[in-house]
Amino acid sequence: MSSAFLTKTHYLTGLQCSKRLWMSIHQPESAAEIDSGQQAIIDQGTEVGRAARKLFSGGVLVDNPPDEFSSALARTQALIADPSIPALFEAAFEHGGVRIRVDILERLGPGRFAMREVKSSTSVKDEHLRDMAIQLWVLRGCGLDVSSVALVHVDNDYVLDAPEIEWARFFESADRTREVEALLEAIPGEVRGLRDLLAQTSVPDVEPGSHCKNPYACEFWKHCTADKPPEWFAAQQRARAELRAHRFEAARSGEPWVSGSLAVTLEPAEPPVWYLDFEALASAMPIFRGTHPYEALPFQWSLHRLGSRGEVEHREFLARGDVDPSEEVAESLLAELSRDEAPIVVYSSFEARMLATMALRTPNRKRELDAVRGRLVDLLPMIRSSVYFAEFRGSLSIKSVGPTLAPHVRYDDLGDVAEGVGAAAAFVRIATGAVSGAEEERLRGALLEYCKRDTLALMEVHRALRGLVGLA
Ligand code: SF4
Repeated sequence: MSSAFLTKTHYLTGLQCSKRLWMSIHQPESAAEIDSGQQAIIDQGTEVGRAARKLFSGGVLVDNPPDEFSSALARTQALIADPSIPALFEAAFEHGGVRIRVDILERLGPGRFAMREVKSSTSVKDEHLRDMAIQLWVLRGCGLDVSSVALVHVDNDYVLDAPEIEWARFFESADRTREVEALLEAIPGEVRGLRDLLAQTSVPDVEPGSHCKNPYACEFWKHCTADKPPEWFAAQQRARAELRAHRFEAARSGEPWVSGSLAVTLEPAEPPVWYLDFEALASAMPIFRGTHPYEALPFQWSLHRLGSRGEVEHREFLARGDVDPSEEVAESLLAELSRDEAPIVVYSSFEARMLATMALRTPNRKRELDAVRGRLVDLLPMIRSSVYFAEFRGSLSIKSVGPTLAPHVRYDDLGDVAEGVGAAAAFVRIATGAVSGAEEERLRGALLEYCKRDTLALMEVHRALRGLVGLA
């Protein structure tokens, strides 16, 4: 057996995939680097975790860093022994070869405690129960009387109605003591199994599959699928049997599949035509009055226009960020799109959802926004039902389809805003005043460039599709 300690993250990783756990310890250099979108999600979780501490006034943070676990243990014991401390944040415990840091340990009375795990999600998920169970197992193994276990999560119904967030209303506490206790029995065996696994000298043989994205997207996906042939990726996609067969054949032979019906489905999008892309924020902590956690608020749009003689125009808008951007985004967009009634090409249902959201937030413009929504032509379902190239490698996202159909449109030269979540995070930094001056200008420039690239890619993909069926 390995003498290495398991952390809570190791335990949860190992439950998802034994290979992922083994690789994370023995071959971490094979993991994909964290991109700006993933970093933004991690940062948001950290921020929500810090905010939840405000619910437990007088609580004390065990601020010893992760690599000084022994000193964190000692500090925790000293605080536990002091009955005047009502709560501990990041308290450290170790039992049965497992080390944990507990988000919030609340003192209920003499010798009695409650465990509070904080998540930035809006509900309790199965993986959260596992997360709390390993912690409860360690706490009780250390002899602590923990009689209550709850997940403190974001309440999606909360609406910001004051200058500052009211944390007691922003968070909801869901008691899950009984469900978590029911998971305790299996833990000693699971921990033994995972520690034995880590002692192995060779990587476990696990085939990638649906478990690689559930409950968390695995950072070793690229590594594990590097030697898979194109038809393997085609087979991973959920699709009707007949579509699967076309895709499989295209992937196997390397010959693109283009359905005979593509020309008909492209008919509603004959130039002149617009190409629209929104960027929207969906911040856990609402920034603007009248909005709730994770409310999707478009703050930016880009439009390309392809004329009937092939002429190209570009228009763009980026909100200031000092007020709810809904109105200025709606007004600026309508000013452009009311020039004509040409179809508006989009990729996915996201733009339709954003227009519906904007109509709710700017009721005086609802009629015009609904009319814009009625002009949308979505390329994604057309591609899904009519086109497949081996190079898609199983993904129909614009970032996969674009480089194949329009290889001259690149994303790899963009700076620190190169995908949607990163764009939202950049705008939040502007809107909350975290950046100003030259740094704000730089971020604004990066946002405009990124959104413009998306509509350019969309226009070029549309052109390529028309070219496939002899329309361009
Ligand atoms: S990609 Fe899948 S199979 Fe590979 S380590 Fe990750 S979860 Fe396991």
